[in-house]
Amino acid sequence: MVDRYWIGFFLVLSCLTQVLDASAGDADPAYRACVAQCEQTGCVGQRCFPHCKFSSDGFPIDGPWYMQEPLYLRWKQWDCQSDCRYHCMLDREKEREAFGHGPVKYHGKWPFRRVYGIQEPASVAFSALNLAVHFHGWLSFFVLLYYKLPLKQDKKAYYEYGTLWHIYGCISMNSWFWSAVFHSRDVDLTEKLDYSSAVALVGYSLILAILRSFSVKDEAARVMVAAPLLAFVTTHILFINFYKLDYGWNMKVCVIMAVAQLLIWASWAGISSHPSRWKLWVVVVGGGLAMLLEIYDFPPYKGFVDAHALWHATTIPLTYIWWSFIRDDAEFCTSNLLKKAK
Ligand SMILES: [Zn+2]
Repeated sequence: MVDRYWIGFFLVLSCLTQVLDASAGDADPAYRACVAQCEQTGCVGQRCFPHCKFSSDGFPIDGPWYMQEPLYLRWKQWDCQSDCRYHCMLDREKEREAFGHGPVKYHGKWPFRRVYGIQEPASVAFSALNLAVHFHGWLSFFVLLYYKLPLKQDKKAYYEYGTLWHIYGCISMNSWFWSAVFHSRDVDLTEKLDYSSAVALVGYSLILAILRSFSVKDEAARVMVAAPLLAFVTTHILFINFYKLDYGWNMKVCVIMAVAQLLIWASWAGISSHPSRWKLWVVVVGGGLAMLLEIYDFPPYKGFVDAHALWHATTIPLTYIWWSFIRDDAEFCTSNLLKKAK
């Protein structure tokens, strides 16, 4: 039953990504004409942009010589295109609203309103909060492990998964940092950094789910489990960065790895007698429901909060419960080991 649900979920998701590729907004001839004209004149209606001051041969007509290097030129052209697209989009959306039409997507994204140049302020704020909750969770785990729980004679913790969770904390914080950057400003580089960090996080969490739920403690066995997955994730990251950023394929890879770990944790919560397994259930069910927000992809309310931003919001409390489970696990395993030792 659960399997069927996930297969259905996966199918809907893959259809959705195909629909996302073609955006109605930028296919509109009026929008295209507006952008083309703006890139030539540097103006949309009464608004003109300093980034668009180019002479006919493509060189900027003002600024000192050292500012006219190719890199700067490219940046300026990019800024011009971004400003033109943004203001043409706002104009088109205003016209559409006047005719009673709802918002449409432009270049794969909903029409968001910028705040101080930040493209998706709600997603940025929620990403930053996720980062903060991960930092708090990791820090409290660290304090618990090394200052509250008893240590071995060599000053090492009894809990065998400490290092794995430390790495997990770092990868998570890195991922949310780049998520905040990407939602602030969507360029090729920030997009690749966000996608790569997210893939690394999903891949690493899958390894962690297998190692913890199957209680893999032996170093050699851990390497045997981790090596093929690490190799696959590394190859995938190289592929999306240096060969082709295929959104549909990337989505499939992430969803399969995410669903696999949810199923592993759910099965483990079902059979184990862990005292905090209810927290696992909350995170698994909550995480699954949160993913539905990505399927029910609604436009931003008042130009700010869309389904994706809400999805980032729901992971904040789940992350808090998750780290609380990790702390409970450390306490549980430590007390079990101490009981055995006595
Ligand atoms: Zn995001």
